[in-house]
Amino acid sequence: MPAKRRRSSAAQPSQYTVIKVRLHPSQEQTELLEKTFGCCRYLWNQMLADVQEFYAATDIHYIPTPARYKRSAPFLAEVDSQALCAVHQNLRKAFLDFFRAPNTFGYPQFKTKKAQKDSFTVYCRPYRTGPSIVLTADGIRMPKLGQIPATLHRKPSEDWQLRSVTVSKTRSGKYFGAIVFQRPTAVPVPIVPTQERTLGLNHAFRHFYVDSNGMCAEAPQWLEASRKKLARMQQKLSRMQRGSKNYAEQAQKIRLMHEQIANQRRDFIHKESRRIANAWDAVCVRDTDLIKLSQTAKGVNVMDSGFGMFRECLRYKLAQQGKQYIVVGRYAPTAKTCHACGAVYEGLSDRDRQWACPHCGAQLCREVNAAQNIRDWGLQQYYQQNSETGAFSAV
Ligand SMILES: [Zn+2]
Repeated sequence: MPAKRRRSSAAQPSQYTVIKVRLHPSQEQTELLEKTFGCCRYLWNQMLADVQEFYAATDIHYIPTPARYKRSAPFLAEVDSQALCAVHQNLRKAFLDFFRAPNTFGYPQFKTKKAQKDSFTVYCRPYRTGPSIVLTADGIRMPKLGQIPATLHRKPSEDWQLRSVTVSKTRSGKYFGAIVFQRPTAVPVPIVPTQERTLGLNHAFRHFYVDSNGMCAEAPQWLEASRKKLARMQQKLSRMQRGSKNYAEQAQKIRLMHEQIANQRRDFIHKESRRIANAWDAVCVRDTDLIKLSQTAKGVNVMDSGFGMFRECLRYKLAQQGKQYIVVGRYAPTAKTCHACGAVYEGLSDRDRQWACPHCGAQLCREVNAAQNIRDWGLQQYYQQNSETGAFSAV
C-alpha cells in the first residue's frame, strides 16, 4: 500500500496508510454514486471554465467555491457537499502543481465521461455526534450514502484515524473505496549501510532486474501468459460487429482481463519490493530515464513492466524502516567499468553480455558487473553526502 511520510506536528510524526476495499452498493446507492461522479465532473468543468474566463477578463487567478454553483445547478445539493469541496481542493492543487512545475504537471484539463476514471473523494469530519465516515465490520458508512457493504481484507489498528475515502469505479464496472488512515509512527532509527548489507539493482532489458549478487528477477510467467491471452481476445473483438451484444460482452471480458493483469503486476511488485526492503539495509539503483528506455528497447515495454512503481515501492518500504534508497546519476559509467579493478573498457559493445577485463583479466557478466558498480557508486555517494553534513565520518 502506498504510504506517504509527513510530519504533521513536531511532537508526533505520522504516516498515511491506504486500505482499498471493494464496495458492493445497493441499486439505490449505485445511482447516488453515479450521480456524485457526474456532479463532481460537472463542478470541475464549471470551475475550470470560470477560472479561465475570469483570468481572461481580469488577469487574476481565482477559483470560485462550490456554494456559488448550487443556485444555478440545484442537483448539486443531492450529493454530499464534502465531495464537492474536495473537487475545489483538487482543482486548487492542480493549479498549484501547474504553477510550480508546468512541464511536469501541465495545465488542468476538462474532464469527460469517457477519458477520466470516475471517482470522488470525501473527507472525514469530526462532528460532535461522531465522525462523518465510519468503517464498520462489513462496510463503510458515508454521508448521504449510508452503509455501503464492503469486503475488508485488512483491519486498521485502534489508533488509526480515518481521514478520507476516495470512491472510484473501474472500467469493468466495479466500485472501490480507497480509505486513507493517519497513524502515529515512531521515527525509525537511520541504519548506516555497509557493502555487505547493500544491494545494487540494474534494470536490464531481458530481466525485470539483475542484482549485485548475480540474481535475476523475471516478471512472472503468468504475466506473459495473461498478455498473450489478452492479445487473442483483442483479435477476436476486432472481428466482431461493433455495437452488437457479442461485441459488448467481449469488450467487458477484455476490461476484466486488463484489471486482472494490473492486479497481478501490482501483487508481484509489492511482494518483490517487500522481500528486498526487509532483507537489505540499502538499495542502490540508477537514475534511469524510463520513458527514454522504453522508446529505445524494442519489443520490451519498460513502462509496462512496472519498474517505476517497483522503485517507488522500494523507496517507501525502505524509508519506513530507516533504511536507505540511493539513486546514482544516470551517466555513471557502470557498464564499461570493471568492478574488480576499476579500469574502463571503452571497447565494450552493446551486444557483449560476457566480457573479460583487459586490465585485470576478470570474467564479467555485463548486467551483474553494472549492478555491482551501481552498489559501490551509490554507497560512495551516500558516505560522501553524509560526511559533508557531518552525520557521521566516512567509513
Ligand atoms: Zn578489471
